[in-house]
Formats: sequence, structure tokens, C-alpha cells
Amino acid sequence: MLRTTRNRSSRLGHILPEFMHARTAPLTPTTGHCIFCDLMHGAAEVSICYEDATAIAFLDIQPVNAGHVLVVPREHYETLQDIPKAVGLHLYQVATKLIPVVQTAAGATDMNIVVNSGAAAGQNVMHYHIHLIPRRVDDGFDVPLPFPGSQMPNRQQLDAMAARIGSMLRDPLRKDGMKL
Ligand code: AMP
Ligand code: ZN
Repeated sequence: MLRTTRNRSSRLGHILPEFMHARTAPLTPTTGHCIFCDLMHGAAEVSICYEDATAIAFLDIQPVNAGHVLVVPREHYETLQDIPKAVGLHLYQVATKLIPVVQTAAGATDMNIVVNSGAAAGQNVMHYHIHLIPRRVDDGFDVPLPFPGSQMPNRQQLDAMAARIGSMLRDPLRKDGMKL
């Protein structure tokens, strides 16, 4: 399904404030509004390539390469920690469905699937989304892993962190906000 939604701000202008007041989830802190919620409500141009009751996927306005798609929940959730498990799983199902199609449509050889969750992780739009980024050899984009500035911990340190994570996963009383 391919659809382009044109700017409908004049038609929807009188009801947009209601949408904004109805929101209970936090919005983009610096501006007090969320551009992706605006897109969902038809307040700006968006090029949609997939939609269902829970998720929507549209073309990134400033793509790394042609075909750079964002998979987005219709509801406003900021980060991976905020998103309900069922919604998170659904978004990955949608991404999995889109990936081979996007790759073929973009004529790309490979893909990066990227989530920037939280400001420290480089999230700029504080409405959770998954980037599907078609990649070509020598396109100049890079996700530099392993990070050249990092040091390699020894095996003892790696084992200690693995044990810590494992024990936290098994702790039925943990109250750290993790939704599993
Ligand atoms: P992130 O840094 O992970 O929050 O990525 C935000 C992405 O949203 C960037 O790749 C932007 O180019 C993209 N973006 C911002 N505004 C729009 C918009 N109006 N329509 C489509 N993509 C957008
Ligand atoms: Zn939003």
C-alpha cells in the first residue's frame, strides 16, 4: 500500500489542539509537541508505505539513502523503555516484513536497522521509531562498531556483566521498569 498524505493542516487546524490536550504521554521536551504525532494526525506531509491499527511506516524526510523508512507506533511513546511489549513486538514484525521489500525497492545490497532510544543514544525525535536504512557499498554512512575509542574489557569483566544481567533477568522482584 502506497499513499502520500498531503498537508491537511487547514482542514484539521480546529481539532489539533484537542489531540494535543488529549495526550497523556510525554511529548518532545524541548518543543512541547511531537512532529510524528503531527504527521499521524495529518498536520504535515508524509509519504506512507505501510499502515495498520498499531503501526505506521513512512519515508524519512532526510534519508541516508533512498528508501530510508521509519517504523513508528501510532501511539506516542518516547523510548524503548516506555513502549508496551506487544507494541514493541509488533513494530519489529512490521520491520521484518518491510526489510526485504524496502531493500529491493531501494536497489540496496544491505540494511542497517537502527533504534536511537533516549537522548544520550542520539534520539532526536522523542517518539519511538525504528530506522530501516538501505545501504550500498561506499555510501559514506557508518555505524562505527566496534567503537574505535573504546577499550576491550578482559574476560572477567565481560563475565561479571553477563552474570549481573542474567541475575537481574531472573529476579522476580526487580522493580527497574523493564517490561519483559
Ligand atoms: P532519531 O535521531 O533516531 O530520532 O531520528 C529522527 C529521524 O526522523 C531523522 O532521520 C529525521 O530525518 C526524521 N524526521 C524528522 N522529521 C521528519 C518528518 N517530518 N518526516 C519524516 N522524517 C522525519
Ligand atoms: Zn508523538
